[in-house]
Amino acid sequence: MIDLRSDTVTQPSQPMLSAMMTAETGDDVYGDDPTMKALEAKGAAISGKEAAIFLPSGTQANLVALLCHCQRGEEYIVGQLAHNYKYEAGGAAVLGSIQPQPVLAAADGTLPLDVVEQFIKPDDFHFAITRLLSLENTHNGKVLPLSYLAQAYDFTRSHRLALHIDGARIFNASVSLNVPLTDITRYCDTLTICLSKGLGTPVGSLLCGSADYIQRARRWRKMTGGAMRQVGILAAAGLYALEHNVTRLREDHDNAAWLAEQLRGIGVNVMRQDTNMVFVRLPQAQVAPLKSWMREHDIVLSTGPVTRLVTHLNIDRPALEKLVRHWQTFLAQQQG
Ligand SMILES: *Cc1c(COP(=O)(O)O)cnc(C)c1O
Repeated sequence: MIDLRSDTVTQPSQPMLSAMMTAETGDDVYGDDPTMKALEAKGAAISGKEAAIFLPSGTQANLVALLCHCQRGEEYIVGQLAHNYKYEAGGAAVLGSIQPQPVLAAADGTLPLDVVEQFIKPDDFHFAITRLLSLENTHNGKVLPLSYLAQAYDFTRSHRLALHIDGARIFNASVSLNVPLTDITRYCDTLTICLSKGLGTPVGSLLCGSADYIQRARRWRKMTGGAMRQVGILAAAGLYALEHNVTRLREDHDNAAWLAEQLRGIGVNVMRQDTNMVFVRLPQAQVAPLKSWMREHDIVLSTGPVTRLVTHLNIDRPALEKLVRHWQTFLAQQQG
């Protein structure tokens, strides 16, 4: 099966499974799991933060991050299409009584700071208290420029806000910019990293920040049901991924660029390609037929008027060649 819906669909490889099978475990709620301790130490080291904590999902990592940053009646400024505003079932509002203040992102995925500034509430009892600026990197595949991050960081210092990065795909950003992760994370207080997307583990995210912050995150994680027991088997997958699956993200980006070029070549309306994502515009009449046509050929797409194709470690060049071939036949049939 060739599945281009998302990089979340990646399967654990044999060597990753072997690492999981042989992992040393202990009860992590007692702080006894050596493999988890190693993963959290590694997460802190690679992000240049004092500490890190493992959570079962990126959604829970973002939720816990927001619960640590904001109290009841406080707010975070966030992109209108950001995952931790739009795609997390309103968790911060429901469970934290935290008010989101969404703003529209610019075309490059940044939140324009002059706009953000207008939404910071003055100290007045009519308003929620603005605490946090939350950015997403990458945002729909787009890498936030380092110069912007530097400005955003200074901006938050002068406005007494914290800066969180939802870095579900932050390694795609660091590989794309060809800089160490710390060149990006120096411009934030906290960040989340998904291990289960392009990095290819079955489960898990890391939340990284100061020692004090991560200490508080441990309580929120417990409260939200995310503390787990012999979780070294998952940590082993994470350690394996950080060791072996980071630099190879470049292949996914190269494959996405190749795919975009090939699709343009056969007349598909390719809107853009950024990192491991290709966005194409489909005529409405093709949306459903393309999906079922591909499905018949063991290719899974989530089609829409804007269709997103995501490359990942289970998609190689022959798989993409097959996709392009079937797309071309599909288009020929449509015309015929
Ligand atoms: C996938 C994703 C998450 C977390 O999703 P989970 O499915 O809960 O792991 C968070 N933020 C962004 C930007 C994502 O793409």
